[in-house]
Amino acid sequence: MNVDKLKILGEASQYDLCNYVSMNQENFTSKNLPGIYNAHTSSGCSVPLFKTLMSNHCANDCLYCVNHCQNKFERIEYSPEELVSVFLHYYQNHYAEGLFLSSGMPGDPDKALENLVEVARKLRREHEYQGYIHLKIIPGASYDLIKRSMSLADRVSVNLESATSAGFSELTSTKDYQKDVLRRMKWIHRLKRRYPDLAPSGQSTQLIVGANQESDEDVLNRVKWLKKHLDIKLSYLSPFKALEGTHLQNNPLPDSKRVPRLYQAQFLVNSYGFDVEEVILDDSGNLFLEEDPKYLWAQLHPNEFPVEVNESSYRELIRVPGIGPQSARRIIEARRLGRHFTHLDELKKIGVVVGRAEPFIKLNRAYQSTLDF
Ligand code: SF4
Repeated sequence: MNVDKLKILGEASQYDLCNYVSMNQENFTSKNLPGIYNAHTSSGCSVPLFKTLMSNHCANDCLYCVNHCQNKFERIEYSPEELVSVFLHYYQNHYAEGLFLSSGMPGDPDKALENLVEVARKLRREHEYQGYIHLKIIPGASYDLIKRSMSLADRVSVNLESATSAGFSELTSTKDYQKDVLRRMKWIHRLKRRYPDLAPSGQSTQLIVGANQESDEDVLNRVKWLKKHLDIKLSYLSPFKALEGTHLQNNPLPDSKRVPRLYQAQFLVNSYGFDVEEVILDDSGNLFLEEDPKYLWAQLHPNEFPVEVNESSYRELIRVPGIGPQSARRIIEARRLGRHFTHLDELKKIGVVVGRAEPFIKLNRAYQSTLDF
């Protein structure tokens, strides 16, 4: 096994989050297993994945990426046979439970994607591997090859990287936002609707936050669009990192609170029914980083509160800080079965964060807090 190759191509894929809340190598470095990432899913599970680039050759010029075409270093790649053998070694020794495969684009997008597809084909057809495979779709790849990728992978993804076409042009001159990226994502969506068995876990995407001039409002408009038109319920957001050897290595990093606040705001627009226009933004279209956007909205809309827990609609309940979709549904369901809430403790037991919700609710028509709106 070529350990240098494992390290270089494994580390090169570390900033790809798609469909994981976070990834790290902490639990595996002691075992000296390059390319193995402990992926934490949104449901709280921890899964070791072999996550790697097939090749770091790339003809694209993405300003934030060390593999951009002007960077002078020795390029390396796996052959499909080599990669299959490395993965099976990890899998059979229980070091990896799944494969996350991406690649640079040496010149022809189809050629790059064909190599990924060949790895998946060999694993599925020749080695009867039934486990998880995530394939990164190369921007610009053809419709037929994307369909073939989806027939072998559990999940596919195309990294959108930017919220707007103009923001994308700030970061690369060799890829076209509409044609190479968004059109491919639309194809995947259409294929998935026509053939539901393809890529059973669907598609995901990732945006880089803070690499260009895009505002939080731009990001929120895009994640809302992605949910409405492509059924992507959660877009992954990755804070810009100024990596040495990239064109942006001296650029400032985004505030560490920006991405967490953007995730909170994304939940407001994609899960809580807020319009982007309702999210409280500053004059530049950015979130206020010191406060949770839902709490801020509630503080600035005193006329909407307090809501009576025993009478309010689902829509009114989920706008209360401390009440999420799950606890709002539980309240509605309990009321349907004849329950009448009288004490905060009852709400706490079904998942309401009562310390947060208290100033904004009434129980039995009585205010639950003396806080002055
Ligand atoms: S396409 Fe862009 S982000 Fe991907 S490897 Fe090439 S330069 Fe890096």
